[in-house]
Amino acid sequence: MKTIGPGSTIGMLGGGQLGRMMAMAAAQLGYKTHVYCPEIDNPAEQVSDQATHGKYEDMSALKKFASAVDVVTYEFENIPVSTVEALSEKVAVFPNSKVLQISQDRLSEKTFLNELGIKTAPFSAVSNVDEAASVLEEISYPAVLKTRRFGYDGKGQAIVKSVNDLEQAWQTLSSDQIIIEGFIDFDMEISVIAVRGQDGEVRCFTPVENRHKNHILDISIAPARISDALKEKAIIQATKIINNIDYVGVLTVEFFVSQNDPKLRVNEIAPRVHNSGHWTIEACPSSQFEQHIRAICGLPLGGTSFIGEARMTNLIGEDILKLPELLKDGNLNVHHYGKSEVRAGRKLGHVTKISVK
Ligand code: AMP
Repeated sequence: MKTIGPGSTIGMLGGGQLGRMMAMAAAQLGYKTHVYCPEIDNPAEQVSDQATHGKYEDMSALKKFASAVDVVTYEFENIPVSTVEALSEKVAVFPNSKVLQISQDRLSEKTFLNELGIKTAPFSAVSNVDEAASVLEEISYPAVLKTRRFGYDGKGQAIVKSVNDLEQAWQTLSSDQIIIEGFIDFDMEISVIAVRGQDGEVRCFTPVENRHKNHILDISIAPARISDALKEKAIIQATKIINNIDYVGVLTVEFFVSQNDPKLRVNEIAPRVHNSGHWTIEACPSSQFEQHIRAICGLPLGGTSFIGEARMTNLIGEDILKLPELLKDGNLNVHHYGKSEVRAGRKLGHVTKISVK
């Protein structure tokens, strides 16, 4: 285990709001942040010490970046594996590239989970519409078609209710790397934010309940309103996953919760801090962002207890215009990501309300 002490520089791939909040947590612990991303106008850079604008494939810019930082991490999961591998030859990178390899492809992700004995929706990979039709006979309708790679916030997916929808869904996704999943009639979606240190210690925040609007996270409520036994089960599964890939940093596991068995199915894993963990900033001794910094720098992990029920609401698109009104409630924790352009569906900020126990 190598401790990287305060005063050192953390290199961060990606410049979004997750990177911004990570840089703020790093600054609190005395670290500097150097952002690497292609976008010139980005939320993370506004609160970081340095920035390099370059493509993730630009090996000479990456080499220079690697020599200017003490450790590298990332704030989004679609960083090319080859980028992380190239950086790893020059500087420590956490989390490792193995987790990217698994999580960037829904087929390898679900196969990995099932091999660990963790339940997912039934799935099958297909590459043409005829294959899809015969798989759908087995999986039955409704089902969800998803592109294997680069899907997020409901993008790259389509529901098929009957064979009549198939052709249209196939055209919409326009890919020959598709996964078909059985539709899970779940009661709730939850996630577990887990952190693993360089020494292998794992800590998890209490499972959080997530509600979506138009496929985008709208509200998170912590703790999730499920039984203690189910919370425990979700934490055990998240711990099994994070331990199995020799992971360092924060990893998020998203689950569907159903009344009938299996009560828990993993939908996906995200090798990063997560929108559903923002409530930890105000509710916990150490936020998900701080835990990530602690883990990658080889510091002891922080506390995961919480002071009361937390409700986080995303400010999406024009919601951000409500800011002056929201600021009048002195009990709301208000976050603005510093993005200049208001666009429908764009995450521009969030608010958290804590009801102290
Ligand atoms: P994903 O891009 O896989 O995170 O999916 C986005 C959202 O679509 C999830 O949060 C669910 O609300 C819904 N969804 C995804 N997969 C399924 C499924 N197999 N059954 C039912 N709903 C799903």
